[in-house]
Amino acid sequence: MLSFWEQQTLINYDFVVVGAGIMGCSVAFELRQKYPQAKIVVLERGIFPTGASTKNAGFMCFGSPTEILSDIKLLGEKKAFEIIWQRFEGLKILSERLGNEKTGRTTNGGFELIFSNPLPKGVVDGLSEWLLPIFKFPVFNDFSKNIEKFGFQNVQQLLHCAIESQIDSGKMMLNYWKLLHENNIQIITGAEVKNIQGNRIEVENNVTGGFIIKATQIILCTNAFISELLPDMPVKPGRGQVILTNEIENLPFQGSFHFDEGFYYFRNIGKRVLFGGGRNLDLKKEETTAFEPNEEIINDLKNKLTQIILPNIPFEIEQQWQGIMGFSDSKSPVVMTLNAHTKYVMACNGMGVALSPFVAKLAVNSL
Ligand SMILES: Cc1cc2nc3c(=O)[nH]c(=O)nc-3n(C[C@H](O)[C@H](O)[C@H](O)COP(=O)(O)OP(=O)(O)OC[C@H]3O[C@@H](n4cnc5c(N)ncnc54)[C@H](O)[C@@H]3O)c2cc1C
Repeated sequence: MLSFWEQQTLINYDFVVVGAGIMGCSVAFELRQKYPQAKIVVLERGIFPTGASTKNAGFMCFGSPTEILSDIKLLGEKKAFEIIWQRFEGLKILSERLGNEKTGRTTNGGFELIFSNPLPKGVVDGLSEWLLPIFKFPVFNDFSKNIEKFGFQNVQQLLHCAIESQIDSGKMMLNYWKLLHENNIQIITGAEVKNIQGNRIEVENNVTGGFIIKATQIILCTNAFISELLPDMPVKPGRGQVILTNEIENLPFQGSFHFDEGFYYFRNIGKRVLFGGGRNLDLKKEETTAFEPNEEIINDLKNKLTQIILPNIPFEIEQQWQGIMGFSDSKSPVVMTLNAHTKYVMACNGMGVALSPFVAKLAVNSL
């Protein structure tokens, strides 16, 4: 039973944001900019974000050439261009908000590996030209002369993107949480939202038990876990498998790397290699919110490390983990008004580091 004091001060808010990943933090921060006096709380069921934001690869990217070409096919030029612009705007917001030091950012560039059917120069230059209104300079160029220097095997073409960079996702989220505290936004961890009825939010905690929090506005930033609260939402989960090597002396490359339309990605973290992806091998099984390994995908990642990325370099896999992404059919962010009290916001499609700060601004502007 809640005490008089708890009922007086701790359970009534102007805004409740559910989920303290990068989207929830971005929404809460935007709310504070728009409503300087509002009482704002973020409810998080984990003891730190427990979905994608601290499980990801930490690429500050907007799409590799083959991924963009595939998006143009799927979405058309106008929509694909708009999403790239939104990602770049989001990256700018995140950089301005937290800066290099607080995100642990390194600016080693991004690369795409192509194994067969190299993209003709006209296509690469054409993409860069198409993107000139966003980036103001030719953003992609051919870097194939470095294939040997980087030690990759079976790679025919290496495309370079100078403005892609890498962050430390744990450091970024820790500093995002600190920023919220500095802005008088409360974060309550271990608070699982079980149900929402109008402006009443049923919250469950192991120690406190069940209780109700009330809010004028509720913004759900629970990414793919939304299906646990509300069925029939237009978002599907997509699990991402990640492996991490031991420290490798004289690792021959630095930066972030993609291949197969963004389905695979790897980067150095100091002397280690983080490698993730392969969801396309088993899309149905990976359409889940369960944090469990998929051995077929992990083996595929290990094989690709041995055969393509680190041929002739001995390594051990020291860690592996999973993160859960959210995907919409349209590959577009979702900002949905569910009723007078509640919105759902999701940036989606595996590039939420870039998109979330931008989509959060859109969502809060629409309030
Ligand atoms: C393996 C992997 C690699 C990735 N790599 C990159 C990358 O390099 N670059 C990039 O831009 N993007 C990447 N992404 C995508 C990016 O991480 C996500 O798009 C982004 O983190 C989504 O943020 P979010 O806040 O919407 O979701 P999340 O980080 O999943 O946050 C949702 C939060 O809601 C909480 N929650 C859920 N249900 C409830 C409830 N009922 N009550 C209370 N709390 C609840 C969860 O615990 C969680 O903390 C990657 C994702 C994965 C999985």
